[in-house]
Amino acid sequence: MTNRAIGIMGGTFDPVHYGHLVTAESVRAHYGLQEVVFVPTGMPPHKSPEQVSQAEHRYLMTVLATATNPAFSVSRSEIDRPGPSFTADTVREVRQSRGPLDEIVFITGADAVRQLPSWSRLDEIFQHCEVVAASRPGYPFAEFEQEIALLPRPLRRRIHFLEVPALAISSSDIRHRVAEGMPIRYLVPEAVQIYIDKMGLYRKVPAAANRRGDLS
Ligand code: ATP
Ligand code: MG
Repeated sequence: MTNRAIGIMGGTFDPVHYGHLVTAESVRAHYGLQEVVFVPTGMPPHKSPEQVSQAEHRYLMTVLATATNPAFSVSRSEIDRPGPSFTADTVREVRQSRGPLDEIVFITGADAVRQLPSWSRLDEIFQHCEVVAASRPGYPFAEFEQEIALLPRPLRRRIHFLEVPALAISSSDIRHRVAEGMPIRYLVPEAVQIYIDKMGLYRKVPAAANRRGDLS
């Protein structure tokens, strides 16, 4: 990789957790990336508004979680773009802002990469970037090799697998824990934990003044 290589870490980040952070940092260090940009999705095409927290909450939690790492930043590009989010648009935007020479690495977890064959405008995505699939507990690489094998060879050659420290953490489990009143300390950065609490996110009965999705 050149010293201007950049990573893109896409996700719903509802909420962001240490699994995301350790994955992004491991890929950054392994490939010597200059920076990793976290890109919270707008409305994911496969999820309804009731299933996903307001984009502004997810964006702010990602800012809080990444603030202490000088190589991390957060982009508003998908949350500010109207309509469903497509990775191809984000990758193209990064390519346009960086010029033709900088390498771009799109970072995913092992569960997300198995959905790759169904992503829109795959050719366009691979025209601009390499894809790194990080290991994730519960999603062994061997299980999705067959799915990846469906992709044309030139695309497949641009997918790389990387073993990262295993953290069996998921946003769905964190949402469930909050709803059930179970602790999330040490699963998310402290600032994120405090934000979730302050805004009343993920509770079964949202705090009256801070209903999920209401920032006013
Ligand atoms: P949810 O349970 O709501 O799907 P999630 O924990 O999977 O949330 P996402 O925002 O869906 O988080 O994931 C963003 C990206 O981070 C995806 O590419 C996903 O595979 C990856 N990822 C999430 N958690 C981990 C983890 N613990 N280890 C490695 N990769 C992860
Ligand atoms: Mg997920």
